[in-house]
Amino acid sequence: MQVWKFGGTSVGKPERMHSIRQLLVDDSSRKIVVLSALSGSTNALIAIGEAAKANETDSAFEQLEALRKHYDAFLEELYTTEAGLEKGKKVVESEFGYIRSLIGIRPFAPKHEKELVAEGELLSTKMFQAYLSEQGDSSVLFPALEFMRIDADGEPEMLEIETRLTAMLEQHADKKIIVTQGFICRNPREEVDNLKRGGSDYTASLIGGAIRAEEIQIWTDIDGMHNNDPRIVKRTFPIRELTFEEAAELAYFGAKILHPSTITPAKLRHVPVRLKNTMQPEAPGTLIANQSSDREIKAIAAKDNITAIYIHSTRMLNAYGFLRRVFEIFEKYKTPVDMITTSEVSVSVTIDNDTNLEAITAELREFADLEEHDRDQNIICIVGNFSADKEGIAMKVLDAMKNIPIRMISYGASEHNLSLLIHSKYKAEALNVLNERLFFYEDAMKDIFTAP
Ligand code: ASP
Ligand code: MG
Repeated sequence: MQVWKFGGTSVGKPERMHSIRQLLVDDSSRKIVVLSALSGSTNALIAIGEAAKANETDSAFEQLEALRKHYDAFLEELYTTEAGLEKGKKVVESEFGYIRSLIGIRPFAPKHEKELVAEGELLSTKMFQAYLSEQGDSSVLFPALEFMRIDADGEPEMLEIETRLTAMLEQHADKKIIVTQGFICRNPREEVDNLKRGGSDYTASLIGGAIRAEEIQIWTDIDGMHNNDPRIVKRTFPIRELTFEEAAELAYFGAKILHPSTITPAKLRHVPVRLKNTMQPEAPGTLIANQSSDREIKAIAAKDNITAIYIHSTRMLNAYGFLRRVFEIFEKYKTPVDMITTSEVSVSVTIDNDTNLEAITAELREFADLEEHDRDQNIICIVGNFSADKEGIAMKVLDAMKNIPIRMISYGASEHNLSLLIHSKYKAEALNVLNERLFFYEDAMKDIFTAP
């Protein structure tokens, strides 16, 4: 079995839903199809929730009516028969009726807000499955709220998900296309909850892991993960193959195409993840798996809004316990540290969440000297397969960066990552020079040496 996930833009127009159906029926394998809400719907529902919370009931209803118009028009183009359209109308009528009843609840609690945003995925999947049955396709809807569970810490209950899903699949063994909602789940209080913004990718990976799928496909509207940021760098290209580790680094370092947690469940169960483009289904996309045969340097990514903190031990050399005390403070303020460099007496760290910066630096000053921290920094991350016996990688990177001031360098933490900290004013230049040196230099050299 395969798991195919389609994001908001891939289901955002009736004609896109038509093409998705075509993709599904053209492929003979049995599938679980995970859908996001129609593009824009989650944001619209959140805004309606905000209005309800602020007691701006009129505004909430106005926004609801605007959203309703969008769905009404969508239905007209989605279905091809009267009977199909009637069914679609019933779905929209009933879900919007429920939203309307939620808006009136006072006090409007977080659990109501979550029920409200869940409507985006409930609408898209119910409308889509009604369309599949209108077209006579063998399909069934699996309500995610019946199998997708999180624990009190918001972590997925893997065993529970597996048991429930396996039973449901057995019960519907005759169905070829199984449609379900991304993003939404139930928490231990039996309330509707979610896997956080962009969480539909995560749903797909959790399902794929739970049923040990043959493959998970994440369908978006670009042709896979690119080797560099196409908004900043001209000559980028899709990466054919990545390992789970490389993909996780890239997702974390800002490659927007994939939610960073997505990889974990798939990786645990060795289920390959393929990124595909709905606009260009024949393109190979990016395959993420245990191993990759591709080139050693795979990609470059940048993470914005980084703050660097420079800490010097006030005690003499060889003071043990210093790092522990430093990191305890970051732990206390639940602030993840991204990058670290150390010398005998100093340690520099970077954070991307500076909410508690003042408190953190105040506590650090109790036992350390701090230099003025630097805001507006950027981590440039070079990802690939840099096993210890590969020589020349750092040289190539530093050579490309020779005209750009570097604040920190981190290499060797894993075999997949070399990170540099620079001021964000150099970000575009750094991404471009690295792109040329790391991906096009050898080609340029080859041309020079093989030229007649
Ligand atoms: N609809 C949700 C969101 O917009 C989940 C998703 O699309 O992945 O965040
Ligand atoms: Mg997404």
